[in-house]
Amino acid sequence: MLYQRKISRGDALSAKLAFQLQNARYVMAGAQTLGVLSAMFLLWFQYSPLPIPAWGIGMLLLSFLQSIHMGYALEKQRHIQNPGGVLREIMLSSLVGGLAWAATVIWMGQQLSDDVLYALIMVMVIMTVTTVAATAVVREFYLIWICATLIPVASYLGWQHDVRPFNLTFAMILTGLAMLMALLTEGISRSFSQMVESGLEREAMAKDLSGVSDTLRAKNLQLQEARKQLADLAKLDELTGLRNRRGADKAFELEVSRAQRAGTSLGVIMIDVDYFKAYNDTYGHPAGDDVLKQIAGVLRSVTSRAGELAIRMGGEEFLLLLPGTSQAEAMASAEKIRARITDLQIEHSASGVANVVTVSQGVVASIPSMSTEFKQLLEAADQALYASKEGGRNGVTLSAFRA
Ligand code: GH3
Ligand code: MG
Ligand code: MG
Repeated sequence: MLYQRKISRGDALSAKLAFQLQNARYVMAGAQTLGVLSAMFLLWFQYSPLPIPAWGIGMLLLSFLQSIHMGYALEKQRHIQNPGGVLREIMLSSLVGGLAWAATVIWMGQQLSDDVLYALIMVMVIMTVTTVAATAVVREFYLIWICATLIPVASYLGWQHDVRPFNLTFAMILTGLAMLMALLTEGISRSFSQMVESGLEREAMAKDLSGVSDTLRAKNLQLQEARKQLADLAKLDELTGLRNRRGADKAFELEVSRAQRAGTSLGVIMIDVDYFKAYNDTYGHPAGDDVLKQIAGVLRSVTSRAGELAIRMGGEEFLLLLPGTSQAEAMASAEKIRARITDLQIEHSASGVANVVTVSQGVVASIPSMSTEFKQLLEAADQALYASKEGGRNGVTLSAFRA
């Protein structure tokens, strides 16, 4: 078995008691009522000295009390809170009810004709046999009933075996029946126990599984969140915290089409650090990293308007996306960048253009036509940047590109 879970004895007993109380309260009351009515009918003409109605009412009261007790225990859930106590109580009620029947047969028996006595015994036997299915789930209840009814009557008949012609036969039949029913209840009780246990097990398993699926759902949400964070991270450059090229692709497309629709100018500035290899060679790679971070800070500081974006394109190359920016404004921004980076006063003794770190820039700004693609703007900016490099570095070149 793949799944195994221990069901406690208390839980199993509670479940059995629930079934027993639910069914036995009606079946016992019904059977006993029929039994009492049949017996009253039989005794009516036979047993004059005793008030038969008083006996009948007493027996019915006893049986109703038993039924009410069972219903009450069920309603108050006592079979769950105190299954042991309820078990003892129904065993006691079975004993009292059973003994009342045995006493009736033995006590009245002396004054009954053979036929009526045996008929009365048959009434008791029929009650015993017909109630087995509903009352043997809690086996103790039924065994006590047998011990309180069949056994005393069988013993009495055996003891009085020479008084009536069939006493011995009846005594043997009743004893045999008691044994047979005791055996039968073993099977009934065991298969019911298995049924109850597998039901409880199924319930427990369903509960566990729903717990597992809740956990899975929570884990799935965590996973989605982690995936989202990962995707966001993948769009950011680790060193500078700026958007990387991949993270900017969407923005490129978006701003081009927005500018196309609105008929506004879109500015792009390509920025490259001058003599950066030499810087690394002179001051070391970590110092170079620090320069890149400072340059990123400058670029961030000039992107204040909505939609403006500073991007690290790779290595020591950056790009500024400036929606709604004319050539003049883009050139002004580039000049601002150049000045601010020079103002950082990062010593660069190996630079061929100054003694501090500088950048070269290529600027393009244009109202894109409907067929313009962003990569055309990129190429134009790149060519302008190349021109800046050619022109001696630490400079800004405006591209003549018109979309
Ligand atoms: P130029 O003025 O023509 O641009 O010369 P350059 O030396 O800047 O250009 P080149 O393309 O020859 O060298 C770029 C250097 O940038 C080489 C590489 O080691 C350095 N680099 C690229 N990415 C990083 C980085 O993440 N950190 C550091 N410290 N250096 C980097
Ligand atoms: Mg470069
Ligand atoms: Mg460079």
